[in-house]
Amino acid sequence: MTRVYLDYAATTPTHPDVLTSMLPFFSKSFGNASSIYSYGQEARAAVATARASVASLIGAHEDEIVFTSGGTEADNAALKGVAFAQEQGHNHIITTTVEHHAVLESCRFLEKQGTAVTRLPVDGQGMVDPDEIRKAIAANTVLISVMHANNEVGTIQPISEIARIAKEAGAYMHTDAVQTAGHIPVDVNELGVDLLSMSAHKLYGPKGVGALYVRKGTKLSPLIHGGEQERKHRAGTENVPGIVGFGKAADLARIEAADETERLIRLRNALIAGVLEQISDSQINGHPSNRLPNNAHLSFDFVEGESMLLHLDMEGICASTGSACSSGSLEPSHVLLALGLSHQLAHGSLRFSLGKWSTDEDVARVLDTLPAIVTKLRAMSPLRGNLRRNEK
Ligand SMILES: *Cc1c(COP(=O)(O)O)cnc(C)c1O
Repeated sequence: MTRVYLDYAATTPTHPDVLTSMLPFFSKSFGNASSIYSYGQEARAAVATARASVASLIGAHEDEIVFTSGGTEADNAALKGVAFAQEQGHNHIITTTVEHHAVLESCRFLEKQGTAVTRLPVDGQGMVDPDEIRKAIAANTVLISVMHANNEVGTIQPISEIARIAKEAGAYMHTDAVQTAGHIPVDVNELGVDLLSMSAHKLYGPKGVGALYVRKGTKLSPLIHGGEQERKHRAGTENVPGIVGFGKAADLARIEAADETERLIRLRNALIAGVLEQISDSQINGHPSNRLPNNAHLSFDFVEGESMLLHLDMEGICASTGSACSSGSLEPSHVLLALGLSHQLAHGSLRFSLGKWSTDEDVARVLDTLPAIVTKLRAMSPLRGNLRRNEK
């Protein structure tokens, strides 16, 4: 049984060309990028090339890229970095209820240090209203952080509009672009952002490497101290193989992503249409058009998402209940609750996220197996009959 991988939003396989590009930096060119001798120079040159590649993917200048250990660190570095660079206790951050935990938990931490945090709600399709942002601005607002696209339901936010509001207010604008960079067009100047988070393993690069874009002139305290690397923004010997792989992945994305979009939308729409047609009491979540090309997030009445996942897994199909971080916990997703889903429906949700190696056959496999799984689980469900859809 061939495996059907439909969880590209959780992580992507490393592209074979990316892996090839990384290998010399584990062996032949193992030098420390800070050393004077030629091994070090090779590593240093490779890091510089990768920096240019990542910068060019998002329309940034090379000097504005800070390599990190991934998206989580980039989010932490942006939020804490701005807050720590301000006078303690006099800050205000505006964010939303649907952010990734890396942003939400950083905000919770900063709140304990005296930062005020406003968390704005979203509408039923996951969109934040820029007018609500405008109303939330205070004299001490230093940062607005709104994700570019949501990792669970795929909704794309009006970042450039929000960034204009931030600029008028003299606040910095951060966006978590981990789900969009390398997938849909991301340009820091078109978006108007000052800080932007990326992660290599979400765009066919290796795990454990990412970047924070920092617009020139942004006042930012470093998170990690102990060296002069990354222009003092991020101490520690560079993850040279990881950074080289990230650069290669960025180069490939620049060439390939646009061509992929239409194919993914076609596959994704076929998956959604097939599920909604064949499975009663099912719905699609997120925005109908302002959504990631590869995202299909669905809810089913009277079934547990975890049970569906296990049955799909037995058929060789990998999907997700939404976010890798909250699977295993019994709490329903904060994103789905923010969209107004009932606990019951939030628990009965599945995310299929497609990518480079997804095919028509993969979609057909889901449509061949999922309806029977749902029927079987519903027949056993104690929820069925007790709950009616209109009671949610
Ligand atoms: C995956 C993800 C992250 C975390 O990135 P890591 O590199 O895995 O730490 C942050 N934000 C979003 C939106 C993500 O999807």
